[in-house]
Amino acid sequence: MLGKVFITRPIFPETVQELQQHADVLVNAEDRVLSKDELIASIQHVHGVFTLVTDSIDRQVLSAASHLKVVANFGVGVNNVDVNAATELGVVVTNTPGVLTETTADLAWAMLMSAARRIPESDRFVRSRSFQAWGPTMMLGHDVFGKTLGIIGFGRIGQAVARRARGFGMRILFHDPGRHEDLVRELGVVPAALADIYRHSDFITLHVPLNVQTHHLLNDDAFEAMKRNCIVINTSRGPVVDEKALVRALKAGKIAAAALDVFEREPEIEPELFEMNNVVMAPHIGSASYETRFKMASMTAENLLAVLRGQRPPNLVNVDVWEHRRT
Ligand code: NAD
Repeated sequence: MLGKVFITRPIFPETVQELQQHADVLVNAEDRVLSKDELIASIQHVHGVFTLVTDSIDRQVLSAASHLKVVANFGVGVNNVDVNAATELGVVVTNTPGVLTETTADLAWAMLMSAARRIPESDRFVRSRSFQAWGPTMMLGHDVFGKTLGIIGFGRIGQAVARRARGFGMRILFHDPGRHEDLVRELGVVPAALADIYRHSDFITLHVPLNVQTHHLLNDDAFEAMKRNCIVINTSRGPVVDEKALVRALKAGKIAAAALDVFEREPEIEPELFEMNNVVMAPHIGSASYETRFKMASMTAENLLAVLRGQRPPNLVNVDVWEHRRT
């Protein structure tokens, strides 16, 4: 056996079986997020931990796990892991990039369409038996075809959203530190400063990682600069949007609508958002398709086992750690 492994929440039986063939595996039997004390107690003696976006793997947790070699995170975002602390402590961090790109882009697109055409609101209207007769001005929404889309964060998912937008004849602006000259030619997208994204976009969709630069990227000033018909879609991470500022912007009519898969303090949500019909919400389901979640689980297990075998994992986040990892 390669060592001891802890899985922080029940996952697919096939993944557990795969890990059990090579390691002593313990799974948190309760389907809930563990407290910090429980997490520390559970990983104190293990060599590998299979973590989720809901597990806060901070310096304190990492320091308490003196045998830990690898934090294998189920997801592409690693903002729930203190990667600097892990690197200092010689702990390898892995993630699951790529495999969830198209699935998350599908969700972003579904949310854009839902907010533009008021689909969840229409569904509530029909279910409440309010649909008495067709009306010429009933449930009017916003056209998507031919409009301007601003993509903030033009990496894997941002680009996948751009490919969808091309099918809708949209003018596509993007903001990203990368130049992406090949894509500018291939997709006909236009690099833009944030101010220009705000000034010109009818839809703005976020695909940046959460870090100190992107925390509260959309704040009062950003909403103030947007078009009043703008619809904001967030399938990245909740704290990229200042949620209180978003509420203020929606109440004041500074933007038209929002579609949110992620929330600043999830699962808590600003109470006023529940009352707003021009807000579409989902419980952080960006990558939640059968196919993709299963692939993510296999990938996480593969990364974890590679490190326990002393091999470089396919999806190494903290590259610097590799020479100084715990053996
Ligand atoms: P990626 O690394 O391929 O792309 C991120 C892009 O953001 C990069 O091109 C980077 O240069 C750019 N970027 C970084 N800082 C920026 C800034 N300040 N302004 C503009 N651009 C900036 O990552 P990805 O695979 O496309 O995933 C993006 C994020 O989506 C993940 O970090 C994750 O948090 C989130 N995500 C959410 C879900 C969900 O369930 N809702 C699912 C998958 C991913």
